[in-house]
Amino acid sequence: MKAYLNYIGGEWRPSRGGATFEDRNPADWDDVIGTFPLSTRQDAVEALSAARAAQPGWAAMSPVQRGEILLRAGLIMESRLDDLARTLTREEGKTLREATGEVRRAVEIFKFFAGEGRRLTGAVFPSDRPGSFDMTRREPLGVVTIITPWNFPVAIPAWKMAPALVAGNAVVFKPASLSPLIGLEIVRALEEAGLPDGVVNLVTGSGGVVGDELTGNEMVDAISFTGSYEVGYGIYQRAAPRMVRIQTEMGGKNPLVVLADADLDLAVQLAVIGGYGGTGQSCTATSRIIVEEPILEAFTQRLKERAESLRVGNGLDPDVEMGPAVSEEQLRIDLDYIEIGKREGARLIAGGDVIEGMNGYFIRPTLFADVRPDMRIAQEEIFGPVIGIIPVRDFGEAVAVANQVQYGLSASICTNDMRRAFQFAEQVEAGVVKINQPTTGLDLHVPFGGFKRSSSGTFKEQGRIALDFYTRLKTVYVGYAP
Ligand code: NAP
Repeated sequence: MKAYLNYIGGEWRPSRGGATFEDRNPADWDDVIGTFPLSTRQDAVEALSAARAAQPGWAAMSPVQRGEILLRAGLIMESRLDDLARTLTREEGKTLREATGEVRRAVEIFKFFAGEGRRLTGAVFPSDRPGSFDMTRREPLGVVTIITPWNFPVAIPAWKMAPALVAGNAVVFKPASLSPLIGLEIVRALEEAGLPDGVVNLVTGSGGVVGDELTGNEMVDAISFTGSYEVGYGIYQRAAPRMVRIQTEMGGKNPLVVLADADLDLAVQLAVIGGYGGTGQSCTATSRIIVEEPILEAFTQRLKERAESLRVGNGLDPDVEMGPAVSEEQLRIDLDYIEIGKREGARLIAGGDVIEGMNGYFIRPTLFADVRPDMRIAQEEIFGPVIGIIPVRDFGEAVAVANQVQYGLSASICTNDMRRAFQFAEQVEAGVVKINQPTTGLDLHVPFGGFKRSSSGTFKEQGRIALDFYTRLKTVYVGYAP
């Protein structure tokens, strides 16, 4: 079994406390991927100190040079694509096809932000005074803490680290404890690409200890967090007294609205990709399907058949369409919500149980009919392959139901009526709206972020706009012939 280490100040080293934790394959309990440092607060402080020391030198380099290092890191990851995808499947459970897509996405993110090194522009303004002009320049913030969840453990660190670095910040990165290896592989690629020591630091371990230090310490200039609402809310509160720059991207309860005119084949396909893809463990996963009554029966029947036919198993098997729950705890949460749904009076029509006799956390794709909007299974994020179908009379009710939750991350509509589609885009309270596309899946060069409890709403992620979070604007007044 391999013992992985922290990366602090350009050195791979164990935690000062010496303790470790195991990373296991959720599709095969006997497969231990490795051990990782269960780091202490001291490790976190040392990582922050290393970042603080390295940041001025990194900021002094040209953004073009910084971009070249990011490009090399992206190409290194690309050369290892197949191995990295297998690592991701082994530690998180998603299918190899999904894992390959995610690693490829991380590679493309590094390439994208490498190019941004040449486009780190400010603006030039005319002045009130003759012989003068005003301009803005983008400056890095300093030391950025990056804390990420287990479900997209390579794409999310990539979409935070790449803009942070190209802008000239130093980073301390804490990956989720359920899937730390694939994030470590990004750090390894950056090291091999020639990143100066201390510019990126990796500290693994418990969120409550390491994460707490990395968000509360005075050396931190900015925090980018993705994870649950409960943890994000706590970090936001903790950061507020220091007024440190922060973005928290959090959970979802994402609806797919199916109107009576929809192409039913497409609607079922969107439901399956959005609801059962990634075992329902995407922040943008479809967990509510809001269906107009004229097609309710036909749609429900088709989705039930498709859910029952999905092949569930170890994601390394190319025939498998859905992997396991990520952990025993997540599986228990899924099963608890299934019981809650039954007690609330929803009608379980597919799945609802674990698949016995397998060496992992396998649950069947689950479908509830007759769900009411106020039921807990229609309100709370489950984060498993559990979909609830909510019948509605018309478009107006569909939008009202879509908005009747505290989250607002992604929302989709399936219809051929473009008037309705754009009315939906106008009226739905979600940061991402999809028309005839699944709630999941994002283009890497366009803004991403939620509304309501899905986000602090401070800054968007992904694409050029991500650089707004990782830079501050300075305004310079120039009198060249005053
Ligand atoms: P989580 O429990 O909130 O953990 C997220 C990260 O925060 C992990 O690295 C965790 O460390 C760390 N952490 C935990 N407690 C902390 C604390 N007190 N201080 C600082 N850091 C702390 O979320 P998760 O279970 O990993 O991920 C699932 C959640 O993420 C879902 O709600 C999902 O919707 C959301 N998500 C949102 C987006 C988005 O872009 N909106 C994308 C993906 C996922 P440990 O792993 O060591 O506990």
